[in-house]
Amino acid sequence: MSAVLEVRGVYKRFGGVVALEDVSLAVAPGEVVAVVGPNGSGKTTLVNVISGYVAPDRGSVLLEGRDITRWSAERRVRAGVVRSFQFPLLFPNLTVEENLRVAASGLKPYTLGEVDRRVVEEALHLFDLEAVRRRRVTELSEGHRKLLDVALAFVFKPKVVLLDEPTSSVSSQEKFAVMEKIVEVVKKSGASAVVVEHDLEVVKKFTDRVVQMMAGRVVKVAKTAEWSHD
Ligand code: ADP
Repeated sequence: MSAVLEVRGVYKRFGGVVALEDVSLAVAPGEVVAVVGPNGSGKTTLVNVISGYVAPDRGSVLLEGRDITRWSAERRVRAGVVRSFQFPLLFPNLTVEENLRVAASGLKPYTLGEVDRRVVEEALHLFDLEAVRRRRVTELSEGHRKLLDVALAFVFKPKVVLLDEPTSSVSSQEKFAVMEKIVEVVKKSGASAVVVEHDLEVVKKFTDRVVQMMAGRVVKVAKTAEWSHD
């Protein structure tokens, strides 16, 4: 099986609510997969199951054919399954560069201060953040904040990056530029991405395949070019 990531027959229930019901999904190397569906359809729970924040009741998650269902979120990050950090998790009063240094030091918690500068420089370069490296997060445009968010994930050299609405709250002018850069870096680095995205224009323009969810189930999977929303 050539999939980098596989979800097989996952079920998850919260009390009486069935959040995921027999969800399966395979992501090929280099592929950008959109997960779409109305609120409450299970998209976030699926990302949480993949990243290890939620344990499925049944089913499994595989990375390059290895069963990682019982691995902690941290172990998955080290193995290359990385979720983009959400803005509230950034340190708002630190600069772009400092936030990246904190993320990079997370790779080696006992060598704080001895961060590999190349990792930070590469992330700044990949995401075109060099010009704003000394700006605090509070001084950034929403677009730059989103790029930093994803850049933090790339510090961990992901095989699969999980993006939860990377363009939400970004202005419509900035939206395409932000997504274009993210997809460019994903493709260039040979990673794959699973993107929860509401904006169908962004889905159509930047993703390879669409997984459509409804009430905890996958109701349609199609190549983006052949996909129509119904
Ligand atoms: P989406 O991301 O598509 O909006 P979610 O995965 O957030 O959907 O939610 C799917 C269903 O599971 C919803 O009915 C939601 O209320 C429920 N749910 C999600 N997380 C929890 C939780 N931690 N506790 C209880 N119910 C939850």
